[in-house]
Amino acid sequence: MTDIRKVTVLGTGVLGAQIAFQTAYSGFEVSAYDIDDAALDKARARFAGLVGTYRKEVPGADGGKAEAALQRLSLHTDLATAVADADLVIEAIPEVLSLKQETYGKLGELAPEKTIFATNSSTLLPSAMKDATGRPDRFLALHFANSIWKFNTAEVMGTADTDPAVFDTVLAFASEIGMVPVPVRKEKAGYVLNSLLVPFLNSAAELAAGGYADPHDVDKVWRIATGAPMGPFQIYDIIGLNTPYNILSHGDERLQKLAAWLKKNYIDKGKLGIATGEGFYSYKDRS
Ligand code: NAD
Repeated sequence: MTDIRKVTVLGTGVLGAQIAFQTAYSGFEVSAYDIDDAALDKARARFAGLVGTYRKEVPGADGGKAEAALQRLSLHTDLATAVADADLVIEAIPEVLSLKQETYGKLGELAPEKTIFATNSSTLLPSAMKDATGRPDRFLALHFANSIWKFNTAEVMGTADTDPAVFDTVLAFASEIGMVPVPVRKEKAGYVLNSLLVPFLNSAAELAAGGYADPHDVDKVWRIATGAPMGPFQIYDIIGLNTPYNILSHGDERLQKLAAWLKKNYIDKGKLGIATGEGFYSYKDRS
C-alpha cells in the first residue's frame, strides 16, 4: 500500500473529471481544481453523469457506492487551497505546453515538498515540463485512457530525473485506483497507446478530409475487416475533438490541414463528440 491518501486533480474536463471520480470512487480524498466557477459547474454535471455511468457499467457500483464517491470530492478554483495537503497531483489541463509549464511553475511553489506531480499529457514529454516543476525527481507522467472505469490502463513514464521510488509509488497507486499499471521504460512521445493511436486517427482524418471515404464508411471498414469494436471516428467522439485538434494544429503543414478540416466541419458547429451530444455521430437520443 502506498502513502498516498490525498489526491488533487488539475483540470476537470473529459479526462480530469474521470480521474477525479475514479480516484474518489476508490476511496481516496480528492480535490478537483479548475479555472473558474463555470468550469466547476461543468465538472459537477460530469460527476453526476459519471455516477449514472458507474451504476450502469461498473459491477458493484450500484447500492450507493457511486454516490458515496461524491462525498470524497471537493471542488476548487483556488490552486493553493486545492493542493494544500496533496500527496499526489494529477494534471489534466489542456494539451498546450506553455500552459502546462506555467501551471507547474505555480504548483511547484504552492504544493508541499512531499507532493508528487504527475501529468496525464497524451503527447508531450514529461522532460519538457520537468524543470518548471522545481522538483524533477518527484515528477513523471501517469497516462490514463478515456473511459477509465472500463479502459483501465495507466501508463507510467518518468524522465531521467525521476526518483525510482516515486516511479514505483505511482505504479502502485495506479493499481490502488483500479488501473492496470504499465511501466514505460524509456521516455517515448505518445507512450504505447498514442504511438499506435495517433497515426491511426490521423490516417482516418486524411481519408475523410481528402474525400476518399465518409467517416462512417471508414469506421465500417475498420470494424468489419478487423473485428475491432470501434472505428477511428467513434474513437474521436469518445476522446472529444478538442484534444486531437490541439495536437494537429501544432504539427506540420499536413497535420494543420487536418486540424482546419476538423475545426470547420465539426468543432465550429459545436460537434465535439459524445460530451456535447454530437461529433461524427449523434448521441442525442442516448439516455
Ligand atoms: P478538456 O479540454 O476536456 O479539459 C481541460 C480542462 O482543463 C477544462 O476543464 C479547462 O477548464 C481546464 N483548464 C484550462 N486551463 C487550466 C488551468 N490553467 N488550470 C487548471 N485547469 C485548466 O481536456 P481533456 O481531454 O480532459 O485533456 C486534458 C489532458 O488529458 C490533456 O493533456 C490530454 O492530452 C490528456 N488526455 C486526454 C485524453 C482524452 O481522451 N481526452 C486521454 C488521455 C489523456
